[in-house]
Amino acid sequence: MFPKSPLIVIVAPFLLMVVLISGTLWHYGYRAALSDLARRGSADMALVLGGLVSDLQRYRDQAVALADHPTLTALNRPNARHQDSAAHRLLTASADRTGAAGLYYVDRGGNLLAGTGTRLPEGLATSAPFLRAMDGALGTAHTMSADGTERLFHFAAPSFGSDGKVRGALVAIADAENVEFGWRGLQTAVFLVDDRGRVFMSNRSELLGWRKVPQDTVLIPPNGAPIPFSRSLTTGYEIWQIDLGPYLPRRALQVSQTLPRIGMTGAALVNVAPARRIAGLQAGAVAGVLLFFGALLYLAQERRRTLARANAQLEGRVAERTATLTRTNLALRHEIRERQEAEAALKRAQAELVQAGKLSALGKMSAGISHELNQPLMAIRQFAANGGAFLHRGEPDRAAENLSRIDEMAHRMSRIIRNLRAFVRNENEPMGRVDMGRVIDTALEMTGARLTADAITLDWQAPSAPVWVRGGEVRLGQVMVNLITNAADAMAKSTNKRLTLTLIPGAPVTLCVRDTGPGIQEPEKIFDPFYSTKLVGDGEGMGLGLSISYGLVQSFGGQITGRNTETGAEFTVALEPWTDPAHVKKGAA
Ligand code: ADP
Repeated sequence: MFPKSPLIVIVAPFLLMVVLISGTLWHYGYRAALSDLARRGSADMALVLGGLVSDLQRYRDQAVALADHPTLTALNRPNARHQDSAAHRLLTASADRTGAAGLYYVDRGGNLLAGTGTRLPEGLATSAPFLRAMDGALGTAHTMSADGTERLFHFAAPSFGSDGKVRGALVAIADAENVEFGWRGLQTAVFLVDDRGRVFMSNRSELLGWRKVPQDTVLIPPNGAPIPFSRSLTTGYEIWQIDLGPYLPRRALQVSQTLPRIGMTGAALVNVAPARRIAGLQAGAVAGVLLFFGALLYLAQERRRTLARANAQLEGRVAERTATLTRTNLALRHEIRERQEAEAALKRAQAELVQAGKLSALGKMSAGISHELNQPLMAIRQFAANGGAFLHRGEPDRAAENLSRIDEMAHRMSRIIRNLRAFVRNENEPMGRVDMGRVIDTALEMTGARLTADAITLDWQAPSAPVWVRGGEVRLGQVMVNLITNAADAMAKSTNKRLTLTLIPGAPVTLCVRDTGPGIQEPEKIFDPFYSTKLVGDGEGMGLGLSISYGLVQSFGGQITGRNTETGAEFTVALEPWTDPAHVKKGAA
């Protein structure tokens, strides 16, 4: 339902975006920082070069000024004393003031007339600046010893005689180390490459003596072995990657400036590590923030998805349960309908059985009934004949007496017929209040002929007051007829025939039908339908009487049981007493 979107589909583009954004930021940050570094490098270099130019200017000015100093020019006179002490003092004091390494006054022939030292440095008389001074111009040069330890600036200023000719020169020598001294504190590595491609001055002593190929940026160490070097241009800035020792940046921004006045090129190497660090920090911070919010978003999204998934699962389960319940409901309804149908069928079958039972009982009673009806009929015939005779004899009173006996007999017959009709009628009798005493009387009336015919002694004390029970009069009558008929059947072969009926009011109302027959053969089976020990087809037993009675009594909420006593069988019917006060009042009225 919810395809688990692979992590890569969401996370990879996001990470790519973070990398792109932070990369762009890094680039811009780095560029901005580089421009700052370039400014700082240029400023540092300007400071260094400015200082250098002014230092060199000082030495040059000193040379020019001293060249025409009278104490020195006086030394050109033929009688003048060489190595005059005043001139020596002047030059020494001057050198001390400017920090010059040496000051020498030399005549045209290259002879030392006065100086801070007693001997002229070797090769000075033939050096280019001196020769240039002899030509009347200011000569400048720088020299470097082979091992690079001694680096000197030479300034030679011509000394003109009164005739305007050059008579000598003042040579000032400055130690480059003195000039460099002020640069040491600078963070930026600065070096000066001379016109011969040598690193002549630097605030990083390890660079001294390196060589730089013209038209190339590569620096070559004094031993000549090439070193790993690469150069790149980042937004117009030249970045060097070079290993120049522990005190020089491995990755540096290179800023250069030419110094035509002294014929050198100045270069500064500014460490770009701080710029990279700053740019990295900026980009890292932004990436961190993006990742943080991305993670939050992702978590929220995941949470939402988990919730949605759980929800869908729940809904699915609910739908499943609903479907199951609907199915169960349908099945239940179906079952209910089936049960209702079965119940209806059962009721129908029961009603049919009841009817069958009634007819069966009627069949059994038919002999007694015909006897019962025959007897009054015969009597009626007798009374009618008697009545006629009395009328003939002119005894109307006696005739009327006979007629009233006829009327009595007819009434008795009609009562018997009414009972039979009520018994056989197949109708739904409502449940209600029934006087149990009356029910027993009616049943006895219907079975009376049989009991008399079989010479059964009846032991029955009708109660003085009605005993009300809950039930149906006709159905209860049927139960009573069944029980009495069964008792009579059982006692058919008994010598002592006694039927005892007892009605005990109370809750429940208990009725006992006791006989003196042989007793019940299989008491556990007697209420089963079609169980009979009597001959079937003989008009005797159908095995339905007790099972129907059982069903009827149960339908009234009562109970019927059968057991053997010492004398015979005993059937007990327990019934609910009628309790509705409204009906009791009506009945009493
Ligand atoms: P039927 O009378 O048609 O046999 P019933 O259901 O009325 O059917 O009785 C079932 C059986 O119960 C009888 O066949 C008989 O064996 C037994 N029975 C009923 N009443 C008595 C009784 N009073 N004494 C002995 N056995 C009885």
